[in-house]
Amino acid sequence: MTGFREAVVDLDAIAANVRHLRAQVGTPHTMVVVKANGYGHGAVPAATAALVGGADWLGVADIAEALELRAAGIDAPILAWLHAPEPDFAAAVAANVDLGLSSTRQLRQATDAARSAGRVASVHLKLDTGLSRNGVPEPDWATVFALAAEAERDGRLRVCGIFSHLSNASPADDAEAIARFERGLAAAADAGLAPELTHLAATAAALRVPEARYTMVRLGIGAYGLSPFDDATSADLGLVPAMTLQGQLASVRRVPEGTGVSYDYTWRADSDTSLALVPFGYADGIPRQASGRAEVALDSGCHPAVGRIAMDQFVVNLGGTPAAVGDRVVVFGDPATGVPSATDWANAASTINYDIVTGIGNRVTRRYTGGAAGC
Ligand SMILES: *Cc1c(COP(=O)(O)O)cnc(C)c1O
Repeated sequence: MTGFREAVVDLDAIAANVRHLRAQVGTPHTMVVVKANGYGHGAVPAATAALVGGADWLGVADIAEALELRAAGIDAPILAWLHAPEPDFAAAVAANVDLGLSSTRQLRQATDAARSAGRVASVHLKLDTGLSRNGVPEPDWATVFALAAEAERDGRLRVCGIFSHLSNASPADDAEAIARFERGLAAAADAGLAPELTHLAATAAALRVPEARYTMVRLGIGAYGLSPFDDATSADLGLVPAMTLQGQLASVRRVPEGTGVSYDYTWRADSDTSLALVPFGYADGIPRQASGRAEVALDSGCHPAVGRIAMDQFVVNLGGTPAAVGDRVVVFGDPATGVPSATDWANAASTINYDIVTGIGNRVTRRYTGGAAGC
C-alpha cells in the first residue's frame, strides 16, 4: 500500500551496493558515509544496511550525527570531520567517535578533551590537497604533525588515520592532489606518525582513480545506488537506487483547452485534457527549478509535470490517460523499473542527484523494505 507522501528505502539495495562497490575497489577497509541523514535515506537504517554490506567504518560530518548512530546502538568505528569552533570533543571521545582534525586548534582541543576524559582520542588528520576547505593547509603540516606526534607520545591521542578529499575537477587536478597527499604522508612519517589508515577517495575516485584508493575508500552516493558521473548511470555501475519517492494522486480533473495551471499560469492546456495533482512540492525537496521540465510515473507510464512546482504540490498533464484519486505516483526511483530517476530530476533542475535525495524533507515519511526493515 502506497502512502500519501513517502520515500521507500530498500535496505537490501544499500547492502548490495556496498558489497558490489567493495568487490570493485578491493581496499582493506570501506567507510560508508551516512552524513545528512544518510543522504536523506535515514542515517541509522542506512548505516545498519551498510554494515550488512561489509562496511567496517561509518563517516559523518558532525559529531551530533555520530552520537545519533551511537545512541541507536551502532558500535562500528565512526569518523566525524566537520566541527564547530568549540566542539564537544569530550562527548565524541567518550562515545568512541574518531575525530577528523584540520588545525592545530582542533588538535589542542582534542588533546584537552582526551586529558579531561582520561582517555586516548583516536584521530584522523585531514590534509588540504586542493579543495581549500577544511583540511590542514600544506604550510601547517609540519607543525600539526609535530604536535600530533608529541600528543601521541604523551598518550593523549592516537593518529589512526591521515586523509584528504579530491576536487574531481579534472584527472590532472586529481593527480596533483594525489602527489600532494603523498608529500603529506611522507612528512607525517618523518614526524614519526604511522597511521593504519590512509584515505582519499570518495565514490567517484574509488571507481575511476585506482591510485587514490589507499587503505580505505569513503563511499557516499554510490552506496545509495546513484552515480557520481555524468557519463554513467546507476545500472552502468551495477548499482540500484535505494530510494523511491512516491505518493498518491490527490486529485484528478478534466479541464478544457486554454486552462491555466498553477502559479503564474506558466503552462496552459493546448487541448481538453486531464490533470492529476501530485502531493510533493519544494518543501518536500522537489526543486522548483524543475518546473515544466520533469516527469512522473503512473501505472500508465510517464507523464509530464506542468506549470510551477509549488510548496506542497505540482500538476501532471495526463492527456487522455485515465487515472483516479489515490493512484500511486512515482516521482523518482530505479529507472530500470521504467520510472524517472533522481538524476533525471537533478538534470531538470540543473543540479546533481546528491542535492535531490539529501533535500527530501521531513514531511515525507521514510518507509523501509528489505534486510533490516522495521527499524
Ligand atoms: C561526503 C563525503 C564523502 C562521500 O562522497 P561521495 O561522493 O558521496 O561518495 C567522502 N568523503 C568526504 C570527506 C565527504 O565529505
